[in-house]
Amino acid sequence: MTLSFCCAACRLLQEPATECIDCGSILIGRLDTEQELLRWASLSITPEDGSTGGRSKRVTAIDIPSPNVAHEAVNRSGIARSIGAPLRSLVDDLPILAEQISLITRWRHSVFLRLVHAAPFLVEADPPISAASVRISGVLRLVPHVRPPHARLAGDHAWLAGLGIPPHFLEGASLEVVTIHPGDAVAASGVLEDTRVTELAIYRDGVDLQAMVGRAGSIVRLAV
Ligand SMILES: [Zn+2]
Repeated sequence: MTLSFCCAACRLLQEPATECIDCGSILIGRLDTEQELLRWASLSITPEDGSTGGRSKRVTAIDIPSPNVAHEAVNRSGIARSIGAPLRSLVDDLPILAEQISLITRWRHSVFLRLVHAAPFLVEADPPISAASVRISGVLRLVPHVRPPHARLAGDHAWLAGLGIPPHFLEGASLEVVTIHPGDAVAASGVLEDTRVTELAIYRDGVDLQAMVGRAGSIVRLAV
């Protein structure tokens, strides 16, 4: 997985793009060459001489915007089920459906960088009813009911460097991971679309399920 671009407005790491896939901002650039963007976004202007204040070599942390869920979004609750083989967690290699990794400040107030690692999956009503089950894909934001424990980053997080994150980004940051495992209860909020799900053996006739596809300005929010 190569996520070489980062949005200055919501700090989502993503593949090369001209607009952020989550918030739609055009304040987006290559992480390795345009780190100035991630400092600029939170600089303040001092009134005396117009120069910038609080300038630092370091990337600044920001409060990321709330998930941008469309007005016509609906809620569907159920059990998260895999479609095909689950992904593997970047952190512990366990089977997952979605994983949101944030580099945050020590006291959790702000975010340096974040990424969401997910494959399409199903939120299935219990008991399973095709009309009440929904396929989840696209841009996701995971919102935990209870914030998970966080850990100071140490040298054993080589997998982060493997994503292309410059090592100095990790200095002083803490790690917060929110995960959806197969079988977890989740509540999804998003815009429903009709789709023909042929990849699911349990819906043998290619039953038309509904889908939520997260897009810029209309993401899928998952309470977990
Ligand atoms: Zn963004």
